[in-house]
Amino acid sequence: MPLMNLRDCRALERRLLCGWYYIFSSRKWKRSKVSARRSQECAGILNFASGCHNVSDADICSICANSLRNQRIICVVENIRDVIAIENTQQFSGTYHILGGVISPLDGIGPDQLQIESLISRLAKEQTEELVFALSPNIQGDTTIYYIQKKMQNLQCRVTTIARGIAFGGELEYADELTLGRSLQNRMPVDRYISH
Ligand SMILES: [Zn+2]
Repeated sequence: MPLMNLRDCRALERRLLCGWYYIFSSRKWKRSKVSARRSQECAGILNFASGCHNVSDADICSICANSLRNQRIICVVENIRDVIAIENTQQFSGTYHILGGVISPLDGIGPDQLQIESLISRLAKEQTEELVFALSPNIQGDTTIYYIQKKMQNLQCRVTTIARGIAFGGELEYADELTLGRSLQNRMPVDRYISH
């Protein structure tokens, strides 16, 4: 087998890190007893991009740094698992913004604990044309969309959401590639989805 070049090594490293992150942030793992310590250890070896908060060994992640991707479209997701799920569909060519969760008062998660401020500043700085919400179709996801939308009222930016009428089985990561891909293609203005 030929030796891998540096680029291949980095790609492999990233895939491994994403794999570990995927496992450590899964629901099953979180419920397990050793999860807290292991998750901390995992977070310690992972670096995150400062703009989009994706896993990255550089300050700008490989997706944001890719000039072939549409930098004017940002897809808002809860975590890196959602990035992997959407990337697997090959139906999205913009960039991502990872919130780190959704607003959930019952779980003690408020807007300040999420990467919402950095999203709003990105929208102004990057002259974003479209913001696509790909959040779980539940009350927490809806609350988060509503909150972010209110915060960006002075910005000229199209706001859409992936089609949410289709049964995802609860969360994005559980959606099959075809369904998720289709829902990305059929995204709709968020106003039509959430009535204020
Ligand atoms: Zn990025």
